[in-house]
Amino acid sequence: MTHDVHIIGGGLAGSEAAWQLARRGVRVRLSEMRGTGERSPAHQTDGLAELVCSNSFRSDDHEKNAVGLLHQEMRECGSLIMAAAAKAQVPAGTALAVDRDVFSAEVEAALAALPSLEIVRERIDRLPDAGLTIIATGPLTAEALAGSIGAATGADSLAFFDAIAPIVYRESIDMDVCWMASRWDKGETKDYINCPMNREQYLAFHAGLLAGEKTEFKEWEANTPYFDGCMPIEVMAERGEDTLRFGPMKPVGLDNPHDATPEFPKGRWPYAVVQLRQDNKLGTIWNMVGFQTKLKHAEQVRLFRTIPGLENAEFARLGGLHRNTFLNSPVLLDRQLRLKTAPHVRFSGQITGCEGYVESAAVGLMAGLMTSAELAGTAWEAPPRTTALGALLSHITGDAEAESYQPMNVNFGLFPPVDPAVKKKQRKEAYTGRAKEDLAGWLPLVSA
Ligand SMILES: Cc1cc2nc3c(=O)[nH]c(=O)nc-3n(C[C@H](O)[C@H](O)[C@H](O)COP(=O)(O)OP(=O)(O)OC[C@H]3O[C@@H](n4cnc5c(N)ncnc54)[C@H](O)[C@@H]3O)c2cc1C
Repeated sequence: MTHDVHIIGGGLAGSEAAWQLARRGVRVRLSEMRGTGERSPAHQTDGLAELVCSNSFRSDDHEKNAVGLLHQEMRECGSLIMAAAAKAQVPAGTALAVDRDVFSAEVEAALAALPSLEIVRERIDRLPDAGLTIIATGPLTAEALAGSIGAATGADSLAFFDAIAPIVYRESIDMDVCWMASRWDKGETKDYINCPMNREQYLAFHAGLLAGEKTEFKEWEANTPYFDGCMPIEVMAERGEDTLRFGPMKPVGLDNPHDATPEFPKGRWPYAVVQLRQDNKLGTIWNMVGFQTKLKHAEQVRLFRTIPGLENAEFARLGGLHRNTFLNSPVLLDRQLRLKTAPHVRFSGQITGCEGYVESAAVGLMAGLMTSAELAGTAWEAPPRTTALGALLSHITGDAEAESYQPMNVNFGLFPPVDPAVKKKQRKEAYTGRAKEDLAGWLPLVSA
Protein backbone atom coordinates (compact mmCIF):
# COMPACT_ATOMS: atom_id res chain seq x y z
CA MET A 1 0.00 0.00 0.00
CA THR A 2 1.39 3.43 -0.82
CA HIS A 3 0.87 5.91 1.96
CA ASP A 4 0.07 9.59 2.47
CA VAL A 5 1.82 9.86 5.84
CA HIS A 6 4.78 8.00 7.27
CA ILE A 7 4.83 7.74 11.07
CA ILE A 8 8.09 6.58 12.61
CA GLY A 9 7.74 5.07 16.09
CA GLY A 10 4.82 3.02 17.41
CA GLY A 11 4.91 4.19 21.03
CA LEU A 12 2.25 6.30 22.72
CA ALA A 13 2.52 9.31 20.41
CA GLY A 14 2.97 7.39 17.16
CA SER A 15 0.05 5.05 17.89
CA GLU A 16 -2.25 7.96 18.74
CA ALA A 17 -1.20 9.96 15.67
CA ALA A 18 -1.73 6.89 13.45
CA TRP A 19 -5.20 6.38 14.93
CA GLN A 20 -6.24 9.99 14.41
CA LEU A 21 -5.17 9.85 10.77
CA ALA A 22 -6.19 6.34 9.71
CA ARG A 23 -9.64 6.57 11.27
CA ARG A 24 -10.18 9.55 9.00
CA GLY A 25 -9.24 7.36 6.03
CA VAL A 26 -5.70 8.70 5.56
CA ARG A 27 -3.26 6.05 4.30
CA VAL A 28 -0.57 5.66 6.93
CA ARG A 29 2.61 3.61 7.19
CA LEU A 30 3.58 3.12 10.84
CA SER A 31 7.21 1.99 11.20
CA GLU A 32 8.18 0.46 14.54
CA MET A 33 11.64 -1.01 15.12
CA ARG A 34 10.57 -3.35 17.90
CA GLY A 35 9.68 -6.70 16.35
CA THR A 36 12.84 -6.68 14.26
CA GLY A 37 14.91 -8.05 17.13
CA GLU A 38 15.88 -4.59 18.29
CA ARG A 39 14.55 -2.67 21.31
CA SER A 40 15.50 0.41 23.29
CA PRO A 41 17.14 -0.37 26.66
CA ALA A 42 13.87 0.43 28.46
CA HIS A 43 11.36 -1.47 26.30
CA GLN A 44 10.69 -5.11 27.13
CA THR A 45 8.09 -6.19 24.59
CA ASP A 46 7.31 -5.78 20.90
CA GLY A 47 3.82 -4.42 21.65
CA LEU A 48 2.78 -1.00 20.38
CA ALA A 49 2.36 1.73 23.03
CA GLU A 50 4.37 -0.13 25.65
CA LEU A 51 4.46 1.62 29.04
CA VAL A 52 8.14 1.42 29.92
CA CYS A 53 7.89 2.09 33.65
CA SER A 54 4.89 2.92 35.84
CA ASN A 55 1.45 1.63 34.77
CA SER A 56 -0.21 4.92 35.77
CA PHE A 57 -1.52 7.79 33.68
CA ARG A 58 -1.58 9.81 36.94
CA SER A 59 -4.62 11.66 38.29
CA ASP A 60 -7.92 11.26 36.47
CA ASP A 61 -9.48 14.19 38.35
CA HIS A 62 -10.50 16.65 35.64
CA GLU A 63 -11.92 19.18 38.07
CA LYS A 64 -8.73 19.94 39.97
CA ASN A 65 -5.82 18.44 38.12
CA ALA A 66 -4.15 19.47 34.87
CA VAL A 67 -3.30 15.95 33.72
CA GLY A 68 -6.81 14.76 34.59
CA LEU A 69 -8.11 17.63 32.46
CA LEU A 70 -5.83 16.52 29.62
CA HIS A 71 -7.30 12.98 29.88
CA GLN A 72 -10.78 14.43 29.50
CA GLU A 73 -9.88 16.65 26.55
CA MET A 74 -8.25 13.69 24.78
CA ARG A 75 -11.36 11.58 25.34
CA GLU A 76 -13.41 14.32 23.73
CA CYS A 77 -11.08 14.23 20.73
CA GLY A 78 -11.65 10.48 20.31
CA SER A 79 -8.28 9.40 21.67
CA LEU A 80 -7.28 5.76 21.16
CA ILE A 81 -4.87 5.88 24.10
CA MET A 82 -7.64 7.00 26.47
CA ALA A 83 -10.11 4.45 25.07
CA ALA A 84 -7.57 1.63 25.49
CA ALA A 85 -6.79 2.86 29.02
CA ALA A 86 -10.48 2.66 29.92
CA LYS A 87 -10.61 -0.97 28.74
CA ALA A 88 -7.39 -1.89 30.58
CA GLN A 89 -8.12 0.08 33.78
CA VAL A 90 -7.16 -1.40 37.17
CA PRO A 91 -8.20 0.04 40.57
CA ALA A 92 -5.94 2.93 41.67
CA GLY A 93 -8.08 5.42 43.61
CA THR A 94 -8.36 8.71 41.73
CA ALA A 95 -5.47 7.79 39.43
CA LEU A 96 -5.95 6.14 36.07
CA ALA A 97 -3.82 2.99 36.08
CA VAL A 98 -3.88 0.14 33.59
CA ASP A 99 -2.83 -3.44 33.02
CA ARG A 100 0.02 -2.64 30.67
CA ASP A 101 -0.29 -5.82 28.58
CA VAL A 102 -4.03 -5.44 28.11
CA PHE A 103 -3.50 -1.75 27.29
CA SER A 104 -0.87 -2.42 24.63
CA ALA A 105 -2.95 -5.26 23.12
CA GLU A 106 -6.01 -2.95 22.94
CA VAL A 107 -4.02 -0.27 21.12
CA GLU A 108 -2.55 -2.78 18.70
CA ALA A 109 -5.91 -4.45 17.97
CA ALA A 110 -7.62 -1.11 17.30
CA LEU A 111 -4.87 -0.03 14.93
CA ALA A 112 -4.70 -3.40 13.16
CA ALA A 113 -8.41 -3.11 12.39
CA LEU A 114 -7.99 0.12 10.41
CA PRO A 115 -7.85 -0.70 6.69
CA SER A 116 -5.84 2.37 5.69
CA LEU A 117 -3.07 1.69 8.22
CA GLU A 118 -0.07 -0.50 7.55
CA ILE A 119 2.10 -1.44 10.55
CA VAL A 120 5.62 -2.31 9.45
CA ARG A 121 8.28 -3.64 11.77
CA GLU A 122 11.36 -1.81 10.55
CA ARG A 123 13.95 0.58 11.89
CA ILE A 124 14.29 3.88 10.07
CA ASP A 125 17.78 5.38 10.11
CA ARG A 126 17.36 8.68 8.26
CA LEU A 127 14.94 11.54 8.23
CA PRO A 128 12.97 11.09 4.99
CA ASP A 129 13.83 13.69 2.33
CA ALA A 130 10.22 14.10 1.25
CA GLY A 131 6.66 13.07 2.05
CA LEU A 132 4.59 13.97 5.10
CA THR A 133 6.33 12.38 8.06
CA ILE A 134 5.69 12.25 11.80
CA ILE A 135 8.68 11.42 13.98
CA ALA A 136 7.50 9.82 17.22
CA THR A 137 10.56 7.84 18.24
CA GLY A 138 10.55 8.97 21.84
CA PRO A 139 13.18 9.66 24.48
CA LEU A 140 15.24 6.63 23.43
CA THR A 141 15.28 7.22 19.67
CA ALA A 142 17.60 4.71 17.96
CA GLU A 143 21.08 6.03 17.41
CA ALA A 144 21.29 6.35 13.62
CA LEU A 145 18.01 8.28 13.36
CA ALA A 146 19.01 10.49 16.30
CA GLY A 147 22.22 11.24 14.39
CA SER A 148 20.24 12.17 11.30
CA ILE A 149 17.93 14.44 13.35
CA GLY A 150 21.00 16.01 14.99
CA ALA A 151 22.51 16.67 11.57
CA ALA A 152 19.30 18.34 10.39
CA THR A 153 18.77 20.45 13.49
CA GLY A 154 22.28 21.26 14.65
CA ALA A 155 24.07 19.38 17.42
CA ASP A 156 23.21 22.01 20.06
CA SER A 157 19.52 21.65 19.42
CA LEU A 158 19.16 17.95 20.17
CA ALA A 159 19.81 16.87 23.75
CA PHE A 160 20.52 13.29 24.81
CA PHE A 161 20.04 13.88 28.53
CA ASP A 162 17.66 16.08 30.39
CA ALA A 163 19.11 18.03 33.31
CA ILE A 164 16.06 19.32 35.04
CA ALA A 165 16.14 21.93 37.75
CA PRO A 166 13.00 22.19 39.88
CA ILE A 167 10.37 24.63 38.67
CA VAL A 168 8.33 26.65 41.16
CA TYR A 169 4.98 28.38 40.79
CA ARG A 170 5.61 32.12 41.04
CA GLU A 171 2.64 32.70 43.30
CA SER A 172 4.06 30.35 45.95
CA ILE A 173 7.31 32.34 46.40
CA ASP A 174 7.45 34.66 49.42
CA MET A 175 8.55 38.04 48.07
CA ASP A 176 8.70 39.49 51.59
CA VAL A 177 11.86 37.39 51.91
CA CYS A 178 13.08 37.22 48.29
CA TRP A 179 13.74 40.09 45.94
CA MET A 180 14.05 40.73 42.22
CA ALA A 181 17.48 41.69 40.91
CA SER A 182 20.15 40.85 38.40
CA ARG A 183 23.75 40.56 39.55
CA TRP A 184 25.45 43.97 39.89
CA ASP A 185 21.99 45.42 39.43
CA LYS A 186 22.17 48.81 37.81
CA GLY A 187 18.44 49.22 37.84
CA GLU A 188 17.97 48.28 34.17
CA THR A 189 16.91 44.65 34.48
CA LYS A 190 15.76 42.74 37.52
CA ASP A 191 15.48 39.36 35.92
CA TYR A 192 16.01 36.97 38.82
CA ILE A 193 14.15 36.15 42.00
CA ASN A 194 16.80 35.86 44.72
CA CYS A 195 16.41 33.82 47.91
CA PRO A 196 18.98 34.91 50.54
CA MET A 197 20.77 32.55 52.93
CA ASN A 198 22.90 33.33 55.97
CA ARG A 199 25.89 31.16 56.89
CA GLU A 200 23.98 28.90 59.22
CA GLN A 201 21.21 28.30 56.70
CA TYR A 202 23.75 27.62 53.95
CA LEU A 203 25.72 25.10 55.99
CA ALA A 204 22.55 23.25 56.99
CA PHE A 205 21.46 23.22 53.35
CA HIS A 206 24.86 21.96 52.21
CA ALA A 207 24.73 19.15 54.78
CA GLY A 208 21.19 18.31 53.61
CA LEU A 209 22.40 17.94 50.02
CA LEU A 210 25.16 15.56 51.07
CA ALA A 211 22.91 13.45 53.28
CA GLY A 212 19.83 13.44 51.01
CA GLU A 213 18.72 10.21 49.40
CA LYS A 214 19.48 10.11 45.66
CA THR A 215 17.98 8.10 42.84
CA GLU A 216 20.35 5.74 41.08
CA PHE A 217 21.09 5.83 37.38
CA LYS A 218 19.71 2.88 35.45
CA GLU A 219 22.40 0.48 34.27
CA TRP A 220 22.28 1.86 30.72
CA GLU A 221 22.45 5.44 31.98
CA ALA A 222 25.37 4.81 34.31
CA ASN A 223 28.00 6.37 32.11
CA THR A 224 26.18 9.68 32.06
CA PRO A 225 28.68 12.33 31.08
CA TYR A 226 28.20 15.34 33.34
CA PHE A 227 28.72 18.12 30.88
CA ASP A 228 29.19 21.75 31.80
CA GLY A 229 26.10 23.35 33.21
CA CYS A 230 24.46 20.00 33.95
CA MET A 231 26.33 18.89 37.05
CA PRO A 232 23.86 17.78 39.74
CA ILE A 233 23.86 20.18 42.66
CA GLU A 234 24.67 17.43 45.17
CA VAL A 235 27.73 16.42 43.11
CA MET A 236 28.92 20.03 43.25
CA ALA A 237 28.27 20.04 47.01
CA GLU A 238 30.49 16.96 47.40
CA ARG A 239 33.42 18.90 45.95
CA GLY A 240 33.67 21.17 48.97
CA GLU A 241 31.77 23.36 51.39
CA ASP A 242 32.18 26.50 49.29
CA THR A 243 31.85 25.07 45.77
CA LEU A 244 28.19 26.09 45.53
CA ARG A 245 28.91 29.57 46.92
CA PHE A 246 31.33 30.04 44.04
CA GLY A 247 28.91 28.43 41.59
CA PRO A 248 25.12 28.62 41.29
CA MET A 249 24.69 30.02 44.83
CA LYS A 250 27.18 32.85 44.37
CA PRO A 251 25.96 35.96 46.25
CA VAL A 252 28.35 38.59 44.83
CA GLY A 253 26.73 41.65 43.31
CA LEU A 254 23.37 40.90 44.88
CA ASP A 255 22.40 43.55 47.44
CA ASN A 256 19.46 42.35 49.49
CA PRO A 257 17.14 45.34 50.01
CA HIS A 258 15.43 43.54 52.90
CA ASP A 259 18.75 43.98 54.77
CA ALA A 260 19.10 47.72 54.08
CA THR A 261 20.50 49.86 56.89
CA PRO A 262 21.42 53.55 57.00
CA GLU A 263 25.01 52.47 56.45
CA PHE A 264 24.11 50.16 53.54
CA PRO A 265 20.98 51.72 52.05
CA LYS A 266 20.86 49.26 49.12
CA GLY A 267 21.29 46.27 51.44
CA ARG A 268 24.06 43.69 51.87
CA TRP A 269 25.10 40.61 49.93
CA PRO A 270 23.81 37.49 51.66
CA TYR A 271 26.17 34.60 52.49
CA ALA A 272 24.70 32.56 49.64
CA VAL A 273 21.78 32.94 47.28
CA VAL A 274 19.39 30.72 45.34
CA GLN A 275 18.29 32.32 42.08
CA LEU A 276 15.15 31.61 40.09
CA ARG A 277 14.72 32.58 36.45
CA GLN A 278 11.46 32.97 34.57
CA ASP A 279 10.64 29.75 32.69
CA ASN A 280 7.72 30.69 30.47
CA LYS A 281 6.50 33.82 28.75
CA LEU A 282 3.47 34.00 31.04
CA GLY A 283 5.82 34.42 34.02
CA THR A 284 3.84 31.87 36.05
CA ILE A 285 6.65 29.34 36.57
CA TRP A 286 10.29 29.93 37.56
CA ASN A 287 13.21 27.53 37.51
CA MET A 288 15.87 27.22 40.22
CA VAL A 289 19.04 28.13 38.35
CA GLY A 290 21.70 25.40 38.37
CA PHE A 291 19.67 23.14 40.66
CA GLN A 292 19.49 20.01 38.46
CA THR A 293 19.53 17.10 40.86
CA LYS A 294 19.14 13.39 41.37
CA LEU A 295 17.80 13.77 44.91
CA LYS A 296 14.63 11.77 45.45
CA HIS A 297 11.49 13.83 44.89
CA ALA A 298 10.29 13.82 48.51
CA GLU A 299 13.78 14.84 49.59
CA GLN A 300 13.81 17.74 47.10
CA VAL A 301 10.52 19.08 48.42
CA ARG A 302 11.69 18.81 52.03
CA LEU A 303 15.12 20.33 51.44
CA PHE A 304 14.17 23.07 48.97
CA ARG A 305 11.44 24.28 51.32
CA THR A 306 14.18 25.08 53.84
CA ILE A 307 15.39 27.82 51.45
CA PRO A 308 14.28 31.23 52.76
CA GLY A 309 11.32 32.43 50.70
CA LEU A 310 10.51 28.95 49.41
CA GLU A 311 9.00 27.62 52.66
CA ASN A 312 5.61 27.25 50.92
CA ALA A 313 6.94 26.57 47.43
CA GLU A 314 4.70 24.57 45.13
CA PHE A 315 6.63 22.77 42.43
CA ALA A 316 5.44 22.61 38.84
CA ARG A 317 8.10 19.96 38.43
CA LEU A 318 10.94 18.53 40.44
CA GLY A 319 14.53 18.06 39.33
CA GLY A 320 15.97 15.06 37.56
CA LEU A 321 18.63 13.76 35.21
CA HIS A 322 17.83 10.99 32.72
CA ARG A 323 18.74 9.77 29.32
CA ASN A 324 16.25 11.57 27.12
CA THR A 325 16.49 12.58 23.48
CA PHE A 326 14.60 15.81 22.86
CA LEU A 327 14.64 18.82 20.58
CA ASN A 328 14.88 22.47 21.44
CA SER A 329 11.35 22.70 20.08
CA PRO A 330 10.62 26.38 20.81
CA VAL A 331 13.45 27.23 18.40
CA LEU A 332 13.19 24.43 15.84
CA LEU A 333 9.49 23.76 15.39
CA ASP A 334 6.72 25.96 14.05
CA ARG A 335 3.36 26.26 15.80
CA GLN A 336 2.26 23.07 14.02
CA LEU A 337 5.17 20.95 15.31
CA ARG A 338 6.89 21.06 11.87
CA LEU A 339 10.61 21.40 11.53
CA LYS A 340 11.02 24.96 10.30
CA THR A 341 13.83 23.94 7.94
CA ALA A 342 12.02 20.84 6.60
CA PRO A 343 8.28 21.36 7.05
CA HIS A 344 7.35 17.93 5.64
CA VAL A 345 8.69 16.55 8.96
CA ARG A 346 6.54 16.90 12.05
CA PHE A 347 7.62 15.80 15.52
CA SER A 348 5.43 14.42 18.27
CA GLY A 349 5.65 12.76 21.66
CA GLN A 350 8.38 13.07 24.21
CA ILE A 351 11.02 13.98 21.62
CA THR A 352 9.32 17.42 21.38
CA GLY A 353 10.16 18.04 25.05
CA CYS A 354 6.86 17.20 26.65
CA GLU A 355 7.16 14.71 29.49
CA GLY A 356 4.98 11.75 30.41
CA TYR A 357 2.81 9.08 28.82
CA VAL A 358 -0.29 11.26 28.64
CA GLU A 359 1.47 14.35 27.36
CA SER A 360 3.31 12.29 24.70
CA ALA A 361 0.05 10.78 23.51
CA ALA A 362 -1.62 14.21 23.57
CA VAL A 363 1.07 15.69 21.34
CA GLY A 364 0.69 12.63 19.06
CA LEU A 365 -3.04 13.33 18.91
CA MET A 366 -2.45 16.94 17.91
CA ALA A 367 0.19 15.96 15.32
CA GLY A 368 -2.38 13.60 13.79
CA LEU A 369 -5.05 16.32 13.66
CA MET A 370 -2.63 18.85 12.19
CA THR A 371 -1.49 16.43 9.48
CA SER A 372 -5.08 15.54 8.67
CA ALA A 373 -5.94 19.23 8.22
CA GLU A 374 -2.84 19.75 6.08
CA LEU A 375 -3.80 16.87 3.78
CA ALA A 376 -7.37 18.12 3.53
CA GLY A 377 -6.10 21.60 2.67
CA THR A 378 -8.01 23.13 5.57
CA ALA A 379 -6.58 25.64 8.03
CA TRP A 380 -5.51 24.14 11.35
CA GLU A 381 -7.11 25.87 14.27
CA ALA A 382 -4.99 25.27 17.39
CA PRO A 383 -6.83 24.36 20.61
CA PRO A 384 -7.28 27.47 22.80
CA ARG A 385 -4.33 28.16 25.08
CA THR A 386 -6.68 28.00 28.03
CA THR A 387 -7.18 24.25 27.45
CA ALA A 388 -4.69 21.61 28.56
CA LEU A 389 -4.02 20.64 24.94
CA GLY A 390 -3.49 24.26 23.93
CA ALA A 391 -1.33 25.12 26.95
CA LEU A 392 0.95 22.13 26.30
CA LEU A 393 1.23 22.90 22.58
CA SER A 394 1.94 26.60 23.20
CA HIS A 395 4.64 25.71 25.70
CA ILE A 396 6.41 23.39 23.27
CA THR A 397 6.13 25.54 20.20
CA GLY A 398 7.07 28.93 21.50
CA ASP A 399 6.07 29.96 25.02
CA ALA A 400 8.84 28.14 26.87
CA GLU A 401 12.19 29.86 27.29
CA ALA A 402 14.38 28.26 24.62
CA GLU A 403 17.57 28.74 26.60
CA SER A 404 16.47 26.64 29.56
CA TYR A 405 14.12 24.32 27.65
CA GLN A 406 13.74 21.00 29.46
CA PRO A 407 11.01 18.33 29.32
CA MET A 408 7.80 19.37 31.06
CA ASN A 409 4.61 17.75 32.32
CA VAL A 410 1.32 19.53 31.82
CA ASN A 411 0.53 21.80 34.79
CA PHE A 412 -1.55 24.90 35.49
CA GLY A 413 1.58 27.05 35.32
CA LEU A 414 1.45 26.61 31.52
CA PHE A 415 -2.04 28.09 31.32
CA PRO A 416 -2.75 31.83 31.11
CA PRO A 417 -3.47 32.86 34.72
CA VAL A 418 -7.09 33.02 35.86
CA ASP A 419 -8.47 36.17 37.47
CA PRO A 420 -6.26 36.84 40.55
CA ALA A 421 -9.43 37.72 42.46
CA VAL A 422 -10.42 34.03 42.41
CA LYS A 423 -9.71 32.58 45.84
CA LYS A 424 -6.75 30.17 46.02
CA LYS A 425 -9.00 27.27 46.98
CA GLN A 426 -11.16 27.73 43.89
CA ARG A 427 -8.37 28.42 41.43
CA LYS A 428 -7.96 24.89 40.07
CA GLU A 429 -11.67 24.65 39.31
CA ALA A 430 -11.42 28.07 37.65
CA TYR A 431 -8.71 26.71 35.31
CA THR A 432 -10.60 23.53 34.46
CA GLY A 433 -14.00 25.27 34.14
CA ARG A 434 -12.58 27.82 31.71
CA ALA A 435 -10.78 25.05 29.76
CA LYS A 436 -13.94 22.98 29.39
CA GLU A 437 -15.93 25.91 28.08
CA ASP A 438 -13.22 26.85 25.59
CA LEU A 439 -12.67 23.27 24.43
CA ALA A 440 -16.39 22.95 23.68
CA GLY A 441 -16.07 25.95 21.37
CA TRP A 442 -13.05 24.45 19.61
CA LEU A 443 -14.17 20.82 19.15
CA PRO A 444 -16.50 21.53 16.21
CA LEU A 445 -13.48 22.94 14.34
CA VAL A 446 -11.77 19.54 14.38
CA SER A 447 -13.00 17.55 11.41
CA ALA A 448 -14.65 14.25 12.28
C1 LIG B 1 13.12 4.76 31.35
C2 LIG B 1 11.94 5.65 31.22
C3 LIG B 1 10.91 5.56 32.13
C4 LIG B 1 9.79 6.40 32.01
N1 LIG B 1 8.78 6.28 32.92
C5 LIG B 1 7.66 7.02 32.79
C6 LIG B 1 6.57 6.86 33.71
O1 LIG B 1 6.63 6.05 34.61
N2 LIG B 1 5.48 7.63 33.53
C7 LIG B 1 5.37 8.52 32.52
O2 LIG B 1 4.32 9.19 32.41
N3 LIG B 1 6.38 8.70 31.64
C8 LIG B 1 7.53 7.97 31.75
N4 LIG B 1 8.57 8.14 30.86
C9 LIG B 1 8.52 9.23 29.88
C10 LIG B 1 7.64 9.06 28.64
O3 LIG B 1 6.34 9.29 28.99
C11 LIG B 1 7.70 7.75 27.95
O4 LIG B 1 9.00 7.55 27.50
C12 LIG B 1 6.72 7.64 26.76
O5 LIG B 1 6.69 6.32 26.35
C13 LIG B 1 7.05 8.56 25.61
O6 LIG B 1 6.16 8.34 24.53
P1 LIG B 1 6.65 8.44 23.01
O7 LIG B 1 5.55 7.95 22.17
O8 LIG B 1 7.18 9.79 22.77
O9 LIG B 1 7.89 7.44 22.94
P2 LIG B 1 7.89 5.84 23.11
O10 LIG B 1 6.68 5.38 23.82
O11 LIG B 1 9.22 5.47 23.65
O12 LIG B 1 7.78 5.34 21.60
C14 LIG B 1 8.81 5.51 20.69
C15 LIG B 1 8.81 4.31 19.78
O13 LIG B 1 9.69 4.54 18.69
C16 LIG B 1 10.42 3.35 18.43
N5 LIG B 1 11.66 3.77 17.75
C17 LIG B 1 12.73 4.42 18.26
N6 LIG B 1 13.63 4.68 17.28
C18 LIG B 1 13.12 4.15 16.13
C19 LIG B 1 13.58 4.09 14.78
N7 LIG B 1 14.74 4.64 14.42
N8 LIG B 1 12.79 3.49 13.85
C20 LIG B 1 11.60 2.93 14.19
N9 LIG B 1 11.13 2.95 15.45
C21 LIG B 1 11.87 3.56 16.42
C22 LIG B 1 10.60 2.73 19.80
O14 LIG B 1 10.85 1.35 19.72
C23 LIG B 1 9.28 3.05 20.49
O15 LIG B 1 8.33 2.05 20.31
C24 LIG B 1 9.71 7.33 30.95
C25 LIG B 1 10.76 7.42 30.03
C26 LIG B 1 11.85 6.58 30.15
C27 LIG B 1 12.95 6.69 29.14
